[in-house]
Amino acid sequence: MTVKIVTREEAAKADFVACVPYRAEEGLLLPNNVLARCCRCETRIQLRPDVPNGPRRICLPCALEEAELHGEEDT
Ligand SMILES: [Zn+2]
Repeated sequence: MTVKIVTREEAAKADFVACVPYRAEEGLLLPNNVLARCCRCETRIQLRPDVPNGPRRICLPCALEEAELHGEEDT
């Protein structure tokens, strides 16, 4: 699996933004992270406050499933 770093403009055009699941017992990875819900499984996830509004929020496990189902649309 490759990690692609994109600019904020590119991120706004992405389909999904993959987020780390939030667990109450672990708390936020960074204190100003914001909570959202995964668009597939509705698990609670955390993301940076400056993530663009366009892409749907998805948890990492669902993001991996999406990538398997639909393939990586790179290039
Ligand atoms: Zn999910």
